[in-house]
Amino acid sequence: MLIDTHTHIQFGHYQEDREKLIKQCVSEHVGMILVGCEYESSLQAVDLARAYHAYPVWAAIGQHPTDTAVPFHPEEFKALAKQSERVVAIGECGLDYFHLAHDATDDAQKVRQKALFEAHLNLSSELSLPLIIHCRDAHDDMLQMLIAYFTRGGILPLEQRREQGVMHCFTGTVEQARSYLDLGFLISFTGIITFARHYDDVVMATPLEKILIETDSPFLSPVPFRGKRNSPLYVKYVAERIACLKGMTVEHVAKQTTLNAQRLFGLELRSGVS
Ligand SMILES: [Zn+2]
Repeated sequence: MLIDTHTHIQFGHYQEDREKLIKQCVSEHVGMILVGCEYESSLQAVDLARAYHAYPVWAAIGQHPTDTAVPFHPEEFKALAKQSERVVAIGECGLDYFHLAHDATDDAQKVRQKALFEAHLNLSSELSLPLIIHCRDAHDDMLQMLIAYFTRGGILPLEQRREQGVMHCFTGTVEQARSYLDLGFLISFTGIITFARHYDDVVMATPLEKILIETDSPFLSPVPFRGKRNSPLYVKYVAERIACLKGMTVEHVAKQTTLNAQRLFGLELRSGVS
C-alpha cells in the first residue's frame, strides 16, 4: 500500500471522474490525504473524506499562503476539524515568497503571510494535529518562525520531541532539510524528483524513516506523465525514484513511507484496504 499524502482531487479538474478515480486508487492500494487550500476546498476535502470513510481517504484543512486576500477565520476551521475524525492535519499553510508580486508591496505581503501561518501554528497546537507546510523561497523566515514558536512553547530536547508535521513538496537544500528534521518535521517529495536532479542529494541525505511521498495532484505530474493532469495513482513513481536513489527495493520504500504517514497523521488503515 502507498499513501499519497498530498493531493487536491477535490478540485474541479476531477469533476468528471472523481468517484471512478477514488475507487481505482482503492483497488490499486493507494490511500490519500485530500489537502485544502482555503475554507471552501478544505470543506470539500472533509466532505469527501467523510463520504469515503470506509476507504483510506483523509482530509487536511488550511489556507495556502498565496491566498492571504481571502479572509481567514480560525473558528470556522476549528469547527471543521471537530466535525470529523477524518481530519488528520492542519494545512496546507506556510510561506511562499516565489509568488510575491516582486514590487513595493512585498514586505506587506510577507507580514500577512506570516500572520496567516502563525494562526495555523496555533490551530495545530490547539487541535493537536500535525502541520502540512508549504514553503517556497522562504526557508530562512520559515525556520525562524518555527524555532521562535517552539521556543515559546518550551522546546524539548531532540529525543523527546514529537513529530510536528511535514515539509510538503520539499525543494530546499540538504542543510535546510536537516534543520527541519531537527525540529521534528518529516520531508515529503513529489514527482519533481523524477525529472529534476537538484533534489537527489536531499533524498539521499534524508533517512527513509523521515520521508513521505505525495503527488500534489493535479499539479507536478511525474515522468512519464509530464504536462498531463496528475493523479494519486502516480505516487508510485515517486516511490520508485526514491528506491532507485537509495538503492532499495520499491516494496521497502512503499512499506516504510506508509508507516511514516500512519505514524505522523495517526492513520488507521481499515481492514480490506491495506
Ligand atoms: Zn498542494
